[in-house]
Amino acid sequence: MTPHFAARMARVTPNAIGELLALGADPSIISFGGGYPDPTLFPVAALEAVFSEVIRAPGGLAMQYAPSDGLPRLREQVADLMQRDGTPCRAEEVLILQGSQQGLDFAARMLVDPGDVIVTEDPTFLGARIAFDTARPRYAAIPVDADGMRMDRLEEVLTTTPKVRMIYTIPEFQNPTGVTLSLARRQRLIDLANRHDVVVLEDSPYRQIRFAGNPLPSLKSLDTQGRVIHLGSFSKVLVPGLRVGWALAAAPYLDKLKLLKTAADTQTSTLNMAATSLFLDRHDLDAHIADLRHAYGRKKEVMLDAIRRHFPQDVTVTDPEGGLFTWATFPEGFDATVFMRDVALPRARVAYVPGGSFFPVDPRPNHARFNYSAQPEDRIVAGIAALGDALKRHA
Ligand code: PMP
Repeated sequence: MTPHFAARMARVTPNAIGELLALGADPSIISFGGGYPDPTLFPVAALEAVFSEVIRAPGGLAMQYAPSDGLPRLREQVADLMQRDGTPCRAEEVLILQGSQQGLDFAARMLVDPGDVIVTEDPTFLGARIAFDTARPRYAAIPVDADGMRMDRLEEVLTTTPKVRMIYTIPEFQNPTGVTLSLARRQRLIDLANRHDVVVLEDSPYRQIRFAGNPLPSLKSLDTQGRVIHLGSFSKVLVPGLRVGWALAAAPYLDKLKLLKTAADTQTSTLNMAATSLFLDRHDLDAHIADLRHAYGRKKEVMLDAIRRHFPQDVTVTDPEGGLFTWATFPEGFDATVFMRDVALPRARVAYVPGGSFFPVDPRPNHARFNYSAQPEDRIVAGIAALGDALKRHA
């Protein structure tokens, strides 16, 4: 049998990074690879209690089918959470998703035909590209600096490129670089999107995990025309295994997204939505997030400190104000994939994500993403020291 695939499968292919990271799953390897939250901070007892309570809900309600747009109570709670964060939001504008990843998939399906252009940051979140690729777009990748996506380059692209359908951005503590879009650039981005009539997909799973600097308004809160689709998630602030996230969008987009939701999986798991909702009723999510901020802020310091002490001087890293990642730049000519395969994994017993796969257009080999949230502090120091040693000896 010869498999016959639809044309849209052409770019649905495994990537080499997956194989490399699978090696990092060996427990004897200290992995800075995945985007995992710290499992020791999962609110296990609270989740156990809410799950056992919702499963006994009268009429088996938490085990029944639910509306495609999500449990009404949870949509209200999300709207409340967004409002308290300064983003105007009504429950009717919220669609509960199976993680914000699902919103990336839906946005591309809704907005992008083959050959259309998606603007992204350069580098950008690999999972977004994997989701977008099935829509067979072309990418225009805009460089980021310490203030996020460069607006001069965005303006140039919007002015010279036909068929731009979407600007995809992670404004806070971007994955993979850790940088945050400045306030001036947020205003400029909305202005450019308005002028060129383009949808903005704001992907904000890390927004709440700010441990330094001042909060900035979401792009959605600056949007007066309903052109920003905002994605949020409970993955990083509660647990990723719930797979509960949300989209906040104006009616024309929300209506279509809801239909895509029905087509894809009918609804997000009722049990998981009900447990999330009851958790929000019974527990103080803000207090839990304050603990996360404190812990991740410390871990970031521990990692950057260790990097300063152990890495060669010509390696630079970003200093994020929140989120889970820092981004390393090695000297020209250094290949982070080759180094991981030949030295970091077998000798230093350390994994990271080589940076190449985060660049949608022109991969640059001399970068790597380091996660500081998953490992305990002593393993962060041990891993960075081993890697620094290996870099000095073998680079
Ligand atoms: N967007 C970004 C930028 C991410 O880093 C992630 C997960 N690492 C997601 C979206 C997806 O998160 P989830 O589906 O768990 O909400």
